[in-house]
Amino acid sequence: MAVKGICKLCLNEKELTYEHFPPRSAFNRNTRFYRINSSDYYENFQKYNKSRKIKAKINQGGLGDYCLCEECNNYLGFSYVNDYVNFAKICFSIIKNSGEFKSISFKFKKEEVNLKYFLKQVVSIFICNNEAWFAQSYPELLNFVKDKNSSHLPEKYRFYLYLNEEGQLKNGNWSMTNIHGEICEFTFPPFGIILSINNSERIYEASEITTFKNYDDIFLDEFNITLNKYPTYSPFPLDFRSKEDFENGIYES
Ligand SMILES: [Zn+2]
Repeated sequence: MAVKGICKLCLNEKELTYEHFPPRSAFNRNTRFYRINSSDYYENFQKYNKSRKIKAKINQGGLGDYCLCEECNNYLGFSYVNDYVNFAKICFSIIKNSGEFKSISFKFKKEEVNLKYFLKQVVSIFICNNEAWFAQSYPELLNFVKDKNSSHLPEKYRFYLYLNEEGQLKNGNWSMTNIHGEICEFTFPPFGIILSINNSERIYEASEITTFKNYDDIFLDEFNITLNKYPTYSPFPLDFRSKEDFENGIYES
């Protein structure tokens, strides 16, 4: 099935094809999910956390949307998807094989994943999961995805990563927060990725990965990374309370 519309990458009016976000082979082959409008979600998220009284239709076959033309869809597939999938597999196996932990350090080889391409795939997810105004307002993000070789992204865009295995998925929609300013948060196990825009303050809850864009200039054979693992029961960005604390309305002081 194809839908006519404006492709969010090349900005041409074309037949759009279904794009999986995250890539299908990154554990998104058979995801069952609901599409709920955001005001409904914010009003009823406690119910949704408990999977009660959900009236929306269940979608099957992997999370995604009609947002790219076939050409752009293929471009992401050839260029970046493998690296996203490889990194997802590394993080998934860390979670699976490490027992209980809140924070963990691990190593992986430089050749296992091109971190610049991983980051470009992440940016494409933020572009596709936001309305057209997003790429218009932040054109450098669009250029970063469209130019495979480019390492250039202005410093106002910063990225953070955490591990995730429980809670709700987060779609990466832009939101304005009172503590961190402009935030997009995309969560799909085994990780969550935060894009922070125009905030010179570092976000301390998660590990900064902005330097992934400089992958080509890193002359190490092996990377060491430390990541926190968080549940995502709250719909609010960077709210990582446990299920119990969230349901009981307990805030950490
Ligand atoms: Zn296109």
